[in-house]
Amino acid sequence: MSTNYRAALTGLLGYPVDENPTGRVMEAAYQALGLSYRYITMLVRPEDLQAAVLGLRAMNYRGVNLTIPHKVAVVPMLDSLSEAAAIIGAVNNITLTDSRLHGENTDGKGFLRSLRQQGQDPAGKRLTILGAGGAARAIAVECALAGARHLTLINRTQQRGEELRDLIRQRTQAGCDALPWVPGMAIPGDSQLLVNATSIGLYPDTQARPDIDYRSLGPGMVACDVVFNPPDTAFLRAAAGQGAATINGLGMLVNQAAVNFTLWTGQEAPEQLMADTLRKEFGLG
Ligand code: NDP
Repeated sequence: MSTNYRAALTGLLGYPVDENPTGRVMEAAYQALGLSYRYITMLVRPEDLQAAVLGLRAMNYRGVNLTIPHKVAVVPMLDSLSEAAAIIGAVNNITLTDSRLHGENTDGKGFLRSLRQQGQDPAGKRLTILGAGGAARAIAVECALAGARHLTLINRTQQRGEELRDLIRQRTQAGCDALPWVPGMAIPGDSQLLVNATSIGLYPDTQARPDIDYRSLGPGMVACDVVFNPPDTAFLRAAAGQGAATINGLGMLVNQAAVNFTLWTGQEAPEQLMADTLRKEFGLG
């Protein structure tokens, strides 16, 4: 039998991309399972995206992740999209099969998996989401497709919140409202899940937290943060102080990587190892 020296190629296209630790996490996972896969972190300028995507086909890539600023720009270059990616209008995962490029958005799926691992499910629930950017969009669409009953969107730029509301109403079965963000505002009392999907609290501004009335949170609520650096955000600490259960952004990140892993390899991801590798990269021990 002849030896196969050729690795299955995966990677990340972004600009900037140097500080993204995903490569370490994916390569650790490939090695743990003894897979002949590689994950290459690649700097691709916006004007070179089309050429880079053609290159993926030419070089028989198995798949890639996309990050800033390519997630929306890549959409017209693909052969097909998942339901969620089509609604979100952004793709962070491409899988190549027989030279066909399929786009998926694993951000929202990572969030869902992280919720479910903590025994939570959005089906039939009322959610309040702070933010209407890329992460909020992915979470709102995925939770609506997973059967959430109602979403309340609160965003600083109201128009962006209203655009996301219209999208949810038109493309999913979930009810949806968009509220203007009034500083110190109360969170609707019937919210079962509250998600900070803004970048407030992200390193180095670690003392910052969304300007809401934390007294409106309570033990019946689960508070989730998308910010993963640091994982223990001022938002989650304040929510825990009111008796709410909390879920940090590291789970979403690891689960998103796990979904990517499975899309490309067809195998279950070694999630604990991936989480440990990520914590180490962030200096969290
Ligand atoms: P975007 O730039 O697309 O959106 C940022 C959002 O935050 C917008 O809704 C913006 O409001 C809001 N925002 C920012 N600053 C403030 C402020 N001072 N007051 C009120 N609202 C504010 O970013 P992304 O959605 O891509 O990323 C958001 C966060 O999610 C980042 O911290 C990112 O690291 C994290 N993330 C985590 C993932 C994970 O796996 N855990 C995956 C993806 C992202 P406005 O519209 O008014 O500007």
